[in-house]
Parts: sequence; C-alpha cells; structure tokens
Amino acid sequence: FSSCPAPLDKDPEMPHSDILAAAGLTQAELTGGSLAVTTPVDGSEIARLKTHSAAEAEARIAAAKEAFKSWRLVPAPRRGELVRLLGDELRREKENLGRLVTLECGKIYQEGLGEVQEMIDICDFAVGLSRQLYGLTIASERPGHAMRESWHPMGTCGIITAFNFPVAPWCWNAALALVCGDPVIWKPSEKTPLTALAVQKICDRAIAAFGKDAPEGLIQVLIGERDLGEVLTASKDVAIISATGSVPMGKAVSADMSKRLGRTILELGGNNAMIVAPSADLEMALRAIVFSAVGTAGQRCTSLRRLIVHEDIYDALIPRLVKAYEGLPIGDPLADGTLVGPLIDAAALDAMTSALKRAQSEGGTVHGGAQALTDTHGAAAYVHPAIAEMPAQTDIMHTETFAPILYVVKYSDLDQAIEMQNEVPQGLSSCIFSTDVRETEYFLSAAGSDCGIANVNIGPSGAEIGGAFGGEKETGGGRESGSDAWKGYMRRQTNTVNYSRELPLAQGIKFDI
Ligand code: NAD
Repeated sequence: FSSCPAPLDKDPEMPHSDILAAAGLTQAELTGGSLAVTTPVDGSEIARLKTHSAAEAEARIAAAKEAFKSWRLVPAPRRGELVRLLGDELRREKENLGRLVTLECGKIYQEGLGEVQEMIDICDFAVGLSRQLYGLTIASERPGHAMRESWHPMGTCGIITAFNFPVAPWCWNAALALVCGDPVIWKPSEKTPLTALAVQKICDRAIAAFGKDAPEGLIQVLIGERDLGEVLTASKDVAIISATGSVPMGKAVSADMSKRLGRTILELGGNNAMIVAPSADLEMALRAIVFSAVGTAGQRCTSLRRLIVHEDIYDALIPRLVKAYEGLPIGDPLADGTLVGPLIDAAALDAMTSALKRAQSEGGTVHGGAQALTDTHGAAAYVHPAIAEMPAQTDIMHTETFAPILYVVKYSDLDQAIEMQNEVPQGLSSCIFSTDVRETEYFLSAAGSDCGIANVNIGPSGAEIGGAFGGEKETGGGRESGSDAWKGYMRRQTNTVNYSRELPLAQGIKFDI
C-alpha cells in the first residue's frame, strides 16, 4: 500500500453524467422526483428520483404474490437458467455498474468492480445450487414406512439493503431466492437507489432472454425511504424479509416481523477485532490491518475496528502502522491509485469526529482523523483514517462508528484478548494473527471467538461467497450467500409415507376403534 502512487490531482476518467448514461439511466428517470441523490465523490446532486408510494408498494407485493403461484412450479434447474442469464448480463455490465457503484457510494473503483464480481460469483453458485436443493431420507421407526424431508419455495422475499454495499447483498439474496422459487422485491438504501435502478434494467434483460416462464412481478424494486421498507415488513404477503443495515434498523424490522411471526434474515452491524499474537508474521499483519481498517473508508460491516496487540510486539507494530497511515493515498475513488475514498456524507464525518473526541476523553491518543481535501472537495467528506491508542477497551470501543477509526489496545494473555474480543454487543467478524497452532485452534474453538466469521492470518473484512455470511448477537444471527444459507429461502416439509397394509402408530400407541 505504501508503494502506490497518489495521483490526487488526476481527473476521473468519465464525467458523472457519462457514468449514469453508461449504466443505462435516462434523463427522464434521473429528474423530476423528490428523492435527491448526491455523490460522495464531490457532494454534488446527480439525480432527483421519483419515489414509489405505499399504494404502489402494495401493488408490487400483490404482483409478486401472483408471480409466486407460477414461479414455484417452474423446475428449479430451469429457475437456475434465469440466474445464469443474470450472471451473463452482469459480466457484460461489470465496468458500467462498478463505476456507478463508485459514483453513488464512494468506494474505490476496484472495490466497485469487486462488488459486481461478487454478484457474478453468487449467480454461478446459485446456478449449481439449482440442481442441488437436496432433502433427506430419514429412518422410520415403523415397518413399511418411509420418511423424508423436502424443501419447497417459501413465498415473496423482501430485500432491504444498506448504502455501503449497494448491490452485492441484493444479489446474495436474490440469486438464492430465485432458484429457491421465491419472487423478490428490493428496497435499496435511499442513499444508493441509482445502482438498484441499473440492476433492475439488467434483470429485465435477463428475464427477456429467459422467456415466458418468468412471470410478471418476479423481480421488482421500490425506490424510497424507510417507510417503503415498513410496507414490506407489515405485509403478510411477504414471507421473508432479508434486511442488511444498522442494529437500530434490525431491531425495528424484527419487532414488526414478530407481530406477524414472519421470517427474517438479519445482517446488521459489526465491531470486528484482530488479535495480533507474539508469534505473528508482522509484515502480513500490517498489510491485513491497513486493508481491513481503511478499505471502503472503514464503511464495511466487516471493517477492522479493534486491534488487540500483545504487549511484547506492540512497539514493533504500532509505530509502523501509524507511518503506513500517513502515506495513504486519499482521494477521488474514480481515480487510479486512490485507496481511501470519501465517507458517504457529512453526518458520517460528524459521527467520526465525535467518536474520536470521545476516545480522547476516555484516555485515548489519536493519530490522524482530520477532514481531508477540504480545499478541492470541501462539499464532500474525505478524512484521514484514524488510529486511537486506548488505555483499555473503553465504552466508545463497544459501538460501531461507520468510519475509518481503528482502536488499539494491549493484551498480555490470550484468554484476556479473547474476552475483550467477545465483550462487545456485535458478533460479525474476527481474526487472529499467530503462527502458533495452539493459539489459532483455541481461537477457533468453543472457547474462542463468538463471531459468525473467525479467521486465521487473514483480516476480518470481506468474505468469499462460498461460505455462509453473517454474525451473532446484535449482528442479527442471519446467514446469507454460500454453504446451506439457501435453506433460509425455503420451507422445510417432513413427509411420512406408509406403504404397508397396517396403520402402526408412533411410540407404540394403541388406538383401536
Ligand atoms: P440503515 O440501517 O440506516 O439502512 C439500511 C436500510 O434499512 C435502508 O434501505 C433503510 O431505508 C432501511 N430501513 C431503515 N429503517 C427501517 C425500518 N424500520 N423498516 C424497514 N426498513 C428500514 O443502514 P446504512 O446506514 O445504510 O448501512 C450501514 C449499516 O449497515 C452499518 O451498521 C453496517 O454494519 C450495516 N451493514 C451490515 C452488513 C452485514 O452483512 N452484516 C452489510 C452491510 C452493512
């Protein structure tokens, strides 16, 4: 990272209007509405979108309900063909969509491309899965009986997403839901609706290529604020809500869904830690720390937020880390060589500033953290990523501030480090850097990390789509993407078939009439 050039004065290659047009968005769509969309790149307004009303949202839910009746009967491998076509369209649109992701949410272009690649990867995964929605055969205790477990489509899946990953989490959900036989309705973040409109166009092309087996209303989007998300959570015709976002949002969604005992998949905030043990490869650790703490300007649910360093190596690591931070190329995320783009908006900058003040009042020493590029990009929210050396794991370290703040504390023995790592309310991602197998296995054991993701010698941020993604405690408990996460989009049915000429009851019960 320190060897990257920092062409902060380099103009982005395409004007913003060209990026919007290349993603297929027309002037008619981008103007005349009430939802202002600004780009964090320079703080300028790039669209005024028309929003959907609650009545229009209800109409889309009704259309999805109708679509479910036929989509659930389409054989799963054929449903997979639609997702294959979606993956093909995404491959064709990767650069255009990746650039729009960068324009709309501010992550660097390489990460914008990476997000679209994740969409492509989950489509590939889901296509294979469409031939593998396996049930079980189960040993029956009764002669002449067969037992099995079958998986059936569940119904409409409402997908609510956050600004920081504007497109990939939709696809983690939608690709699986579609092969599982469920229509999808997407409520993207009100801060990033343009990428959702562009993805809907890509979906429409895949549907057109797929042909008549795809019913009207199979894949839909709702543009607007949280009230549209609330229409989804309130409707009994939305069988599943998969919601990605903050803990307060998850609590509100969970309360609404529990009123009707609807199914939720919740992917909420993280407060992810790395333990650096005395035997760690410090070169590797340094690279992993910087990438996972400052990548996406600290606006990933899996961003590294807490660094727990053994006291014996603290002085060998932390000054080098501070130096690496000083050389980070901060700038326009569309420009080559930038590694740290902007925060999403001024509110995020305020949250970062007040968290750092609190860290200082709790005894911390702060390096970095000031606003950056004020002379050229004053209307945007660029910052110097911050390191806060803390005397202990204080109160501020228990909260997720969605910004590049890395809190650092010392530890003296591994149990103490694991206790600190697990002490926070969130439980998404975690890791240890150590070359001592006793330590690493202990970290992965039942006595180790309590998170949904626990890594060894690799940072906490980002994940491959092949594994189940999600976390415990206030992170919400949901799992998306790989492994058997598909089961969250289907209903399980236990079947018993009596092929004998008797009617033996279970548990030997006699009930003669
Ligand atoms: P947010 O909670 O403000 O908004 C997320 C979405 O929820 C938006 O679409 C919003 O309109 C909607 N929403 C808000 N309240 C709602 C309600 N009561 N009912 C229905 N919908 C509602 O989150 P954000 O600021 O966009 O994103 C940042 C947060 O998301 C961070 O906390 C981050 O950790 C988390 N996140 C988690 C994951 C994960 O997979 N665990 C991934 C990305 C982001």
